[in-house]
Amino acid sequence: MRRKLAAGNWKMNGLRADLAALDTLAEQRGFDVDVLICLPATLIGSCAGLPFAIGGQDCHSATHGAHTGDISAAMLADIGATHVITGHSERRSDHHETDAMVAAKSRAAHEAGLTAIICIGETLVQRADGSTLAVIDAQLAGSVPDCATADNTVIAYEPIWAIGTGKVPTTEQIAEVHAHIRARLAARFADGADFGILYGGSVKAENAAAIFAVPHVTGALVGGASLKPADFTPIIAALA
Ligand code: 13P
Repeated sequence: MRRKLAAGNWKMNGLRADLAALDTLAEQRGFDVDVLICLPATLIGSCAGLPFAIGGQDCHSATHGAHTGDISAAMLADIGATHVITGHSERRSDHHETDAMVAAKSRAAHEAGLTAIICIGETLVQRADGSTLAVIDAQLAGSVPDCATADNTVIAYEPIWAIGTGKVPTTEQIAEVHAHIRARLAARFADGADFGILYGGSVKAENAAAIFAVPHVTGALVGGASLKPADFTPIIAALA
C-alpha cells in the first residue's frame, strides 16, 4: 500500500505573494504522510527546496510542438514538478477533455517521469439516476492507460456535485465507490491493490477524519481548503 497522500489543488488561484502560504505549511513538521501541492504552472518553478511535492494541474499529451498556450509533462518535470493532475472535471467540462484525451495526457505524464493523479467522478444527475458505478467504470477504462502502475498513478474520486459546493457524499457512498474502484484496479493491474485512491470534493477539517476512515481511501485531493495553511494543516493531521 502506498503512503497516504494529502494533495492540494490550488486551481487558478495564486500569485507569487501567495507562496508565503507554502512556507507556513513547511513549518508544520512530523506528519507521516506525503504532502503534494498542485500549483498554477506559473508558480511551480519558485518552489524549489520546500519539504513537500509540487505538481501541475494539467499537461498536453504531446511532448512538444505547435500547441500555443499548452504545457508538456516534460516542461512540468523540468521545473520541479513530480506529479500532475489529469482529467479534473473542470478540465473535462471547460476544455471538453474526453477519457481518451485524459488517458493520452496520463501516458505523457508517465513518459516524463511524473505521477498522474487521474480524476473521475459522476454528476448529480448520474448519481440520482443510479449510474454512478457505470460512469466510474467507463472513466476508469477510458482514462487510465495500460501503462499505469501503483508507482506512477493515483486515482482521485471526485463527485462533481461535491466540488466546491460544501456537499459531501455519505461515508457509505464513498465506501461503495472506493471499493468499486479498488476491485476494478485489482482486476486490471497486477499491482492494482496498491494504487492510491484519493477522495476529493469539499474536504474540510471537520469532515476529513470520517472520510479518511473509509476503507480504500488513501488520502484526499483538496481544493479550497488547501489554499490556507490554517485550513489544510488539520486535514493533513487527520490523515497522519
Ligand atoms: P474543493 O475541495 O474546493 O471542493 O475542490 C475539490 C477539487 O476539485 C480538488 O481537485
